Amino acid sequence: MNHPLHIYNTLTRSKEQFVPSQAPHVGLYVCGPTVYGDGHLGHARPAITFDLLFRYLQHLGYKVRYVRNITDVGHLEHDADEGEDKIAKKARLEQLEPMEVVQYYMTRYHKAMERLNVLPPSIEPMASGHIIEQIELTKQILEAGFAYESAGSVYFDVRKFDEVYGYGKLSGRNIEDMLHNTRELDGQGEKRFPLDFALWKNAQPEHIMRWPSPWGMGFPGWHCECTAMGRKYLGETFDIHGGGMDLVFPHHECEIAQAVASQQGQAMVRYWMHNNMITIEGKKMSKSAGNFITLDEFFTGEHQHLQQAYSPMTIRFFILGAHYRSTVDFGNDALQAAEKGLARLLDAAALLDGLKASGQTTVSVSGLRERCYEALNDDLNSPMVIAELFEASRAINSIHSGLASITAEDLEELRATFRLFLFDLLGLVDERQTDSGSQTAFSGAVDLLLQLRATAKSNKDWATSDRIRDELTALGFVIKDTKDGAEWQLK
Ligand code: ZN
Repeated sequence: MNHPLHIYNTLTRSKEQFVPSQAPHVGLYVCGPTVYGDGHLGHARPAITFDLLFRYLQHLGYKVRYVRNITDVGHLEHDADEGEDKIAKKARLEQLEPMEVVQYYMTRYHKAMERLNVLPPSIEPMASGHIIEQIELTKQILEAGFAYESAGSVYFDVRKFDEVYGYGKLSGRNIEDMLHNTRELDGQGEKRFPLDFALWKNAQPEHIMRWPSPWGMGFPGWHCECTAMGRKYLGETFDIHGGGMDLVFPHHECEIAQAVASQQGQAMVRYWMHNNMITIEGKKMSKSAGNFITLDEFFTGEHQHLQQAYSPMTIRFFILGAHYRSTVDFGNDALQAAEKGLARLLDAAALLDGLKASGQTTVSVSGLRERCYEALNDDLNSPMVIAELFEASRAINSIHSGLASITAEDLEELRATFRLFLFDLLGLVDERQTDSGSQTAFSGAVDLLLQLRATAKSNKDWATSDRIRDELTALGFVIKDTKDGAEWQLK
């Protein structure tokens, strides 16, 4: 049969066969968005990458508990332990409750994810809802002797951890290199060693997001939430932890240190997976470069760098068109090519329904399913799956135009395989069909209600016929009775 699923493990720097520790259950944790600023393109890549993994693991028969957190507290400016919390800062500037800011961006994020056909995770925990767990984690690390209190804050003792368990295994860095690259930051005086990071921060008086703790009023350090919530929902050691490559250091390195220090050396995660970054016309996305484009701006085309709107499925297809460990460069030419490519595949999928079988197969479609599985099993090689589907779409087109033929059995297999990989696993949707499809269903449902009303009327069941008319009117329909029934339109 197939070569089993192999994934690249950042921890061992090699492709490894994926074997869950408690099959059929699989624990998957992915660092979700930091809810501040606008939902941007950078959010789309980890979401789509791990959505493909989530879909594929489920297809393979695993019961996946997928946890993707929302960082709504503790993420400070400059990703360091100093500076103002980003949510709190925005709340202060715009005179909003911090949770108003969180809710606003979370809703926008969810809407964008839905449009990208990213399945919701099994659990989406918020850092602010897990303060107790983070305090508990901090206590355990203190008790184990890998942290110290200083001026109402608690810091992780990196040197001590390095001596006992080794720090930097995931990122492959050693303490000397890290020290070399550390900037001197304000408030360094509280730390014993520059690489020490905050588990709990004492809240300054102006800090609005703060909670009581054994060390006074404060808030958790950013890295705590993932260790605390991963453990709560997936256990001390779980199967897969994912996120963007930019999180390897320091975030994931710190997550590991916290977990290992608080669970007597037991490992936190068996397989670490990281998606590569997105660039725009060869440049890193940043506010200062003016190429920071939100997902909504892509969907509407309203940005100076964009020549047109790009639909959510074009974005999804474009991201899946590159292997998740390669960089993806967004540019108008590449996106327009992706839009055309996706349309070709969707056209082929639509043609499949109408194809007629005949006595023999003259196209090469055998082995398509196996080759698509091989590609996904080889560290989720989605571009290879797409290449196979392009091959298949050429066959579909030649059968459609009468230049080739296919037997009923091969046609069934072609239909099943094409749909499985294009729709179920790559998660693409024919947006053209969705719009008109839902329109048709909508009209049909209203027509049906009006037919039921006509039946009620002819039975002199005035209560039912009035109720249908009144409730449709309340929903915004204008119902006009005609000689042979009723007409409707939306106000
Ligand atoms: Zn995280």
